[in-house]
Amino acid sequence: MNVLLLGSGGREHALAWKLAQSPGLTRLFAAPGNPGIAAHATLVDLAVGDHRAVIDFCRREHIGFVVIGPEAPLVAGLADNLRACRIGVFGPGKAAAQLEGSKGFTKDLCARENIPTARYERVHALDGARAVVGEFGLPVVIKADGLAAGKGVTIATSADEADAALVSLFREGGAEAVIEEFLEGEEASLFVLTDGTHLLPFGTAQDHKRVGDGDTGPNTGGMGAYSPARVLTPALEQRALDEIVAPTVRALARIGAPFQGVLYAGLMLTPEGPKLIEYNARFGDPECEVLMPRLDGDLLEILVATDRGTLDQVTANWRIDTALTVVMAADGYPGAPASGGAIAGLEAAAATGALIFHAGTATRGDALVASGGRVLAVTALGVSVAEAQGTAYAAIDAIDFPTGFARRDIGWREVAREKS
Ligand code: ATP
Repeated sequence: MNVLLLGSGGREHALAWKLAQSPGLTRLFAAPGNPGIAAHATLVDLAVGDHRAVIDFCRREHIGFVVIGPEAPLVAGLADNLRACRIGVFGPGKAAAQLEGSKGFTKDLCARENIPTARYERVHALDGARAVVGEFGLPVVIKADGLAAGKGVTIATSADEADAALVSLFREGGAEAVIEEFLEGEEASLFVLTDGTHLLPFGTAQDHKRVGDGDTGPNTGGMGAYSPARVLTPALEQRALDEIVAPTVRALARIGAPFQGVLYAGLMLTPEGPKLIEYNARFGDPECEVLMPRLDGDLLEILVATDRGTLDQVTANWRIDTALTVVMAADGYPGAPASGGAIAGLEAAAATGALIFHAGTATRGDALVASGGRVLAVTALGVSVAEAQGTAYAAIDAIDFPTGFARRDIGWREVAREKS
């Protein structure tokens, strides 16, 4: 089968690397891809926002299946348009992708289905919003509705901070905000594939959103991750599946918006049990970079089953090893990242046994240079988080990227638990 992969990040490089191992793959194309993905796929110049162009390309190249990496094409309805043309696709349609695209939609669904999540209120104007903040107390969580790439959330610890967040949100043209109760606990991510009916748990991970060591500094797209997240014990995972994911999938099917793809549940492990923080409608980045190396099976066959409604007929086996990934970012990230910095030493890094997934890289002549905020995701396997961490940092130390940086403590919570 010929496959088209959409996206250009470390997540898509990990998907391309794993898809390339699938026995059912004939040719892999990627748009726009990156220099790392180019080792596994033919890169094509396609405007992903132009659905007609994507469909025409699929027809011309006899593409049997499209794998959509990022959220924007899902929210824009690309999966619906491909399915309408009988082209197989991994990813939910527009209606189901609202789980990620609209926080208000998801919170209302949780309320209707009794899904454990933070108490919330949708607000549409400043005065009403201020009253709700007063009622909820501090700290309080304020979120813009809609996609904000992780930048639309404020955890306010004072009334002034809450007020400033609300003022800027409504001043910037936001029509709606969601105000939430602050949940205490440790966060973990649960991935579940679904074809709209069947569920296939697809791994757990814990990421590191803050830019600095010790979880300090501003939020980023993610500076590193490890899998599995043992803090999400089998018993807690089962509760999350039964109390959160299964009722969500049933509710979407009931309203005529069956979810076909991967549900990425961001969970807070509270003293009362797992509660939903957010849903994403695609794999996480960098979580995908730790899931793929642990998957022992045919990724293409599994993803195709989400589209065909045959997920009950496939299995996913996982290596018991831990995988850990460390992101190398360009100086300045998550603000304005330095572009064009030279990167060398990737062969020496790979000699440690680590996998080097590319994100924001480009080629300039024969040289590899940085071309984005997050540049590389360096992934290693190990019998423990500490071992995987040791290999990942040995690889990082072999990489010559003077205008880049990485956190030095990815996996710290689990390493501390392993020691105790
Ligand atoms: P992203 O897609 O980058 O994860 P987002 O804009 O979709 O971000 P959320 O995931 O809803 O936003 O929130 C971002 C972070 O804020 C969470 O990972 C969590 O650390 C924190 N957070 C969100 N809601 C709450 C809450 N109710 N209580 C405590 N912390 C919260």
